[in-house]
Amino acid sequence: MLRKFTSDWIHDGKEGFVSDHCIILDDSGVVAGFRKLDENERRECVYYPGMLVPGLINAHCHLELSHLRGKFESGTGLIAFLKSVVAYRETDPEDVLRAISDADSEMQRQGIVAVGDISNKVDTLETKRRSPIHYHTFVEAFDFLQEGLADNMFEQYRTVYDGFEGMPRSLVPHAPYSVSQRLFAMIRDFGTGASGIQSIHNQESPDEDQLFLTGGGAYRRFWESFGFSMENFQASGNDAVACITGQMDPGQRLLCVHNTCMDSDQIKRMVEWNPEVRFVSCPNANLFIENRLPDYRTFVDRNARMALGTDSLSSNWRLSILSEMQTVLRYNSWLSLEEVLKWACHHGAVALKLENELGSFEQGKKPGVNWIRDVRMDKGRLHLGSLAQVVPVS
Ligand SMILES: [Zn+2]
Repeated sequence: MLRKFTSDWIHDGKEGFVSDHCIILDDSGVVAGFRKLDENERRECVYYPGMLVPGLINAHCHLELSHLRGKFESGTGLIAFLKSVVAYRETDPEDVLRAISDADSEMQRQGIVAVGDISNKVDTLETKRRSPIHYHTFVEAFDFLQEGLADNMFEQYRTVYDGFEGMPRSLVPHAPYSVSQRLFAMIRDFGTGASGIQSIHNQESPDEDQLFLTGGGAYRRFWESFGFSMENFQASGNDAVACITGQMDPGQRLLCVHNTCMDSDQIKRMVEWNPEVRFVSCPNANLFIENRLPDYRTFVDRNARMALGTDSLSSNWRLSILSEMQTVLRYNSWLSLEEVLKWACHHGAVALKLENELGSFEQGKKPGVNWIRDVRMDKGRLHLGSLAQVVPVS
């Protein structure tokens, strides 16, 4: 049996808002039609006051860190944050697994249908197997910038990668400041397998460029404080973006995550190097850790393609893409809800190579349907109200 939905406004996920439309789903949730309503059809539709949007895409999460919710101080800066992550004692494995499962449920309630999830371990495996959410696992390798550890660390993470066999997965480098040239090369040679997607944390703090430009700064002291020698590290004299473009494969789609300190020239170089780059922003985590946000105008001016992520519960208050959109819009009222919803839907789906299934109301796709209550029209633009909530309705 077909089910029909209508609302005051429907965002198709890709192009923008329409009114007087209906979404028609078949039994299995596949879009059988998305079209203008005629008056007879209106009576057959379930009406949701407010707005309907496709299932939301969380392009960057660390599900396995969910037990760290509420454990760390906000606003400390990245280095202090990383130190608290490292210093945190192991939690009871059952608590870790329960927190992972709870976080997955939270994302389902928040209307999230696909997640790009960073994993350093296999703790999330069972939850991912059971969940209706589509997970792409990025097994993330790093070697503390120590060439001598590269082989061992590569083997360790390849074992984790093997653990996710049968699921969408990639083996990826963590960040320019934590991966030696040797490990970068090993990951590049290993390739992205069937997925064709890679990911890296990028431009999280100003210290990142400083390390590569001068060899000094907070990251050097950070690694030395753990007893690692930085004697063999050679500063290239170029910024950290040049480290990525010099060592990763430009022929694969790349999720560049955070980009908090990315300037216009760096965006231009990155896109010229790899037109398949997607910039994933995690605004709540940026505020939690660094107390700053990327300059979104620079990205929009450069026509850069954006997606949204929540990062982990160690650096966020919740796992909600609606909340990430609210944060972007609160500090950037020049941006429209219409535009940011494209980041949260279609562009996120493209980032994870799921655009044929998710992210927009188009015939044959199975994007899921979310109802957002409390929206208002102001000066010709739709806005989220302060009580806006997502309710998955399909
Ligand atoms: Zn992250």
